[in-house]
Amino acid sequence: MQKILKNDEVKVMVGKDKGKTGVVEKVLIDRGSALIIGVNMYKRHIRRMGEMEGGIIDLPKPIKLSNIQLICPNCNKTTRVGIESNKDGKIRICKKCKKDVSIKKTENKKKETK
Ligand SMILES: [Zn+2]
Repeated sequence: MQKILKNDEVKVMVGKDKGKTGVVEKVLIDRGSALIIGVNMYKRHIRRMGEMEGGIIDLPKPIKLSNIQLICPNCNKTTRVGIESNKDGKIRICKKCKKDVSIKKTENKKKETK
């Protein structure tokens, strides 16, 4: 089970964006990194294509999972994530408050379901 998942709110712990927070857009498991909106952005030049106008857009670059920490939705602190088993299977818990860190995310997922 992964410790960082899509829609998690995380904080950057090292690098030029240290201290910034953002929401995980995508986890790149094989690269051990994640795309986070608003973090580690770079400018990319886009060539004009048909109706689409060219120009410069901001895109996030993947950041190493080891450089970010989860912000616990229960205690609002950056924390390491623990994995625990319960009757429903495995859950991710906050190492600080010991609560399930996925509760809020599960609600979001239900809304997204089409
Ligand atoms: Zn917590």
